[in-house]
Amino acid sequence: MRQIFAVLFILFFLSTNAQTLPVECTTAQTQPILISKNQYAQEVNAAQYPAVPQSPAPKELKLVIVTLDGYRWQEQFGGVSKMLQKRLFKDPKFDKAFASKITQGTREEKRKALMPFMWSTVTEKGAIIGNRRQGNKLTVRNPYFFSYPGYSELFCGYVDKKVNSNGHPDNQNLNLFDFLLQDDYYKNSIAAFGNWDAFPKILNANRNHIPVFYNYSSKPDVTSVPPLSNYEKFQTKVPIVSTYAEKDTVVYQHAKEYLVRNHPKALFIGFDETDHFGHTGNYPAYVMAAYQSDVWINDLWNTLQAVPFYKDQTILIVTCDHGRGPAALELWRTHGQGLPASGQTWLALLGPGVKALGESKQRKHYHHDQIAATIIQLLGKDFNSTNPRIGKPIEYVIEK
Ligand SMILES: [Zn+2]
Repeated sequence: MRQIFAVLFILFFLSTNAQTLPVECTTAQTQPILISKNQYAQEVNAAQYPAVPQSPAPKELKLVIVTLDGYRWQEQFGGVSKMLQKRLFKDPKFDKAFASKITQGTREEKRKALMPFMWSTVTEKGAIIGNRRQGNKLTVRNPYFFSYPGYSELFCGYVDKKVNSNGHPDNQNLNLFDFLLQDDYYKNSIAAFGNWDAFPKILNANRNHIPVFYNYSSKPDVTSVPPLSNYEKFQTKVPIVSTYAEKDTVVYQHAKEYLVRNHPKALFIGFDETDHFGHTGNYPAYVMAAYQSDVWINDLWNTLQAVPFYKDQTILIVTCDHGRGPAALELWRTHGQGLPASGQTWLALLGPGVKALGESKQRKHYHHDQIAATIIQLLGKDFNSTNPRIGKPIEYVIEK
């Protein structure tokens, strides 16, 4: 029945908006245009179809996915670790007033001090999944707990056990961007930014030709195709609050510039410094990478809401690819197969169609392979019909 309503809605949308729709929207739907506006109006009255919603049709929605590589749910939901916090005060590079601010009070106060955007705008208007202290769990399904399998599961919506190495070649599994590219609306309008040469392989850019910018070095003019030369003079500014910031700054600067100039309809930005400073055992830098990422996500959201093309019609997803071990025994530095705790993850969602749940306290265990179908459902489409292995959407976070 819902499918019939959906078709009727599309018919109405096309019949009333044919003048203003971009070409790619009208060409894909030839059949529905056969019905006239008046014919449709009569059918609507007969069916007592509810009023046309004011929010944008799912067909017009844009998507931005941001990942914080290997950022633990423990800091996401609890802020700075009590066991590790003294390191912030011992590090001469770490601002002591800020260290005091983010280590005081309850877990709720500490996490908000560390990630103010996450725990104000996102929690007020969106949903955050994965606080195990509330009995709300998110875990990867892959048994490996490192990046390539984690991103593959995130983007493809299922686990391929053959994807078991960060050196894996081009990913043969179809991902959610491949799926979106079947719709003319998203053609030539998807881009990805990260700082890892595996990203083009994970997304299989050789197959789908999504531009994946990944090869950032200390020289900001070195990157993959198309060249960064067009962007030598950035028109946008990005806030830098971390004294430890390295390559992620260039990643975000480039992604923001690309977004403002080119208006991609789907965008991926992969931040890496949480994982990088985790492995080097630099907890103050790991903490600042989280804070810096939150500042950028806030800046990104403000930018999206300032551009009419994106305003109120963009879904923002923030998540990670894997977790890390517990604070004890320095296991927070690492992750991988021998450390099941590093399969524990988290997810934040914001934008049209996302239920304003705030932090989820639902006692339920979700899995990372459900994120792709959740995203695609928010975009008004069905990812599961393409492959029975894909995890089911997390219906709980989706407005009905
Ligand atoms: Zn790692």
